[in-house]
Amino acid sequence: MTSTPLSQETRGIRAAVRKVSAYPFTPIDVPIKLDQNENPYDFPAELKAEAARRMLERPWNRYPDLHADKLREALARYEDWDAGSIVVTPGSNVLIKILTELAGINQTMLVTKPTFSVYTLEASLLDAKLVEVPLNPDFSLPVAELKAALEREAPGVFAIAEPHAPTGHADRPEDVQELVRHAEQYGWVTVLDEAYYQYSGTDYRDLVRAHPNALSLRTFSKAWGLAGVRLGYILAGQEIAHNLQKLVSAFNVNILTETVLEVALEHPEYVQRIVQETVRERERVFAALQNHPTCQALPSQANYFLLRTPDAQAAYRHLLSRGIVTRPQDGQYLLKGCLRVAIGTPGENDTLIAAVNELK
Ligand SMILES: *Cc1c(COP(=O)(O)O)cnc(C)c1O
Repeated sequence: MTSTPLSQETRGIRAAVRKVSAYPFTPIDVPIKLDQNENPYDFPAELKAEAARRMLERPWNRYPDLHADKLREALARYEDWDAGSIVVTPGSNVLIKILTELAGINQTMLVTKPTFSVYTLEASLLDAKLVEVPLNPDFSLPVAELKAALEREAPGVFAIAEPHAPTGHADRPEDVQELVRHAEQYGWVTVLDEAYYQYSGTDYRDLVRAHPNALSLRTFSKAWGLAGVRLGYILAGQEIAHNLQKLVSAFNVNILTETVLEVALEHPEYVQRIVQETVRERERVFAALQNHPTCQALPSQANYFLLRTPDAQAAYRHLLSRGIVTRPQDGQYLLKGCLRVAIGTPGENDTLIAAVNELK
């Protein structure tokens, strides 16, 4: 931080916002994009065409549903959930912001260290007290330490990702359940971030059903291959959903998103096909890198994994020279030397394996 005097222009800006650095992401134009955990497979062409056809028929001069009611009803059928207890926003990043508004501002945001960076970012921007509990060295949940923090701190948002981001570790369901129970006892809103649950075969819907303090956060950005369309949602209990809905701005899901999601939810079978392909590829990449002399692919249940290298910056640059962009995680707790690498198409993964094999 520099201590330049504040100009008239910035004096009114809250200190918390001024202090935070902008979201650290620079797009890099290379053929093989493995840096954002995206789905390598685009939304199926025939479904795109159907969505475009429906878009042409809709009036564009009219506002969409106030709170995306039709979309929430379609999601309710898909998830077997009460439509009134679903909240949707353009991407789940927006949900993380409003969850922080719901229970974090002037209260606490409790996360693991490391965690998905949006949680720590929103806590900083919105003046929630950020409490980070270090993961165990094997990336599992530090259950006793988290329970102690749930007891010690004033309640607010308690967020864990299952499977975890950025490690890809899937925790023992007993541990997750124990923490959800404990958090309930002490009055926390527990977020189970399930952005990647399709790849791990886990599903915490039943746990959320049994614990109204907990909610599942889900997205169309990963397994559904719709990151560009922007839709995230939560499955919650009535009370949380009702209060969270007040924080969603009116008309926040546009008609393009509504229409694409309507088509996607009529044809969910394509998701299973591409998830299976990615899981198969993940295991193939792991097997191929198993005997690498210096690099280690750390086990993951998601559509990405951590590659531990002797020198993350050198490895990053080498992969870039082969047309592959990854995401350095080197600066984070427990992640020295690590790059986060998404699983791509079989051809992209072949290029990745060859490029990693060139690393000394
Ligand atoms: C990608 C991701 C999301 C989804 O973000 P969107 O805003 O829905 O694209 C949520 N949580 C985690 C941990 C993620 O990695």
